[in-house]
Amino acid sequence: MSVQLLDGKSIAADIRAVIKGRVDALRSAGGRSPGLAVILVGENPASQVYVRNKRSACAEVGFYSEMHELPATTSQFELVDLIDRLNADDRIDGILMQLPLPDRIDEAAVTERILPTKDVDGFHPYNIGRLALRMPLLRPCTPKGVMTMLARTGQPLAGLDAVVIGQSNIVGRPMALELLAARCTVTICHSRTRDLAEKARGADLLVAAVGRAHFVPGDWVKQGAILIDVGINRGADGKLVGDMDFAACSGRASWITPVPGGVGPMTIASLLENTLQAAELHANMTAMEASGNPGV
Ligand code: NAP
Repeated sequence: MSVQLLDGKSIAADIRAVIKGRVDALRSAGGRSPGLAVILVGENPASQVYVRNKRSACAEVGFYSEMHELPATTSQFELVDLIDRLNADDRIDGILMQLPLPDRIDEAAVTERILPTKDVDGFHPYNIGRLALRMPLLRPCTPKGVMTMLARTGQPLAGLDAVVIGQSNIVGRPMALELLAARCTVTICHSRTRDLAEKARGADLLVAAVGRAHFVPGDWVKQGAILIDVGINRGADGKLVGDMDFAACSGRASWITPVPGGVGPMTIASLLENTLQAAELHANMTAMEASGNPGV
């Protein structure tokens, strides 16, 4: 069986085209464009690139977006004050706070300050809790993007043995919850996992979110497995590489994501979907308030 490429770049372009159509229809009907506020604290070069890519995707689909660049010396109080203002701003449907934040700032406390209905990253405990309970609202972007890609394979996921390497709050854990909701049997691995290679070899579906170049060698891959490489690492030659040894792993896989051009563009596509979803949510809430219906 020859391997098939899960081309995130092209799937993400399809999603952007659909979203642009929805925004155009909204505006023709007299509505406003969904609005995203992006907060960047400090001058981390990788974060600056990610934020630029996210804003240019917003512009492409016709979203309103605004940038809040704060110095690395920003206090937690000042950051919380900005979030409170954006929470109350009717022009803003989604608030994206680019991570990581400077060490002095309590990331969890600041994340929790964002209104759950404006939490387009899907990192708020409310949104993670809803995902855990199989009643998702705004879903974390990277795992959501992976699920969209997996749907494109046409392969049924129910019953597959899925192994996720990495247990971070933003990738590994919500990824495992997504796969569990899709009825996979999920194993989550991390730096203390014993016999990692054996666990990986048992996977029908293997997700790597470790952050180490070429961490997964070809002989960890079960014949015919679906491989999702979330990692973004810079190789010695300056090029981007994933957590999997692409050449060796693709020889055994049925499907594989490339790096770059795999999960990365899907993360941004999911952010756009979440922002549109948040805008629709806010429009419904406003309509309910106007009709005197308190909703839920
Ligand atoms: P992270 O917070 O550093 O988490 C890395 C995870 O890998 C941790 O759970 C860690 O285990 C585990 N790990 C480290 N060494 C290991 C080992 N030897 N064996 C098994 N597990 C090991 O990273 P992250 O934020 O989840 O990101 C992971 C990667 O994905 C990075 O390359 C990042 O750049 C990339 N990323 C890509 C996208 C995208 O859109 N494509 C989005 C987000 C992140 P412990 O918990 O035990 O320490």
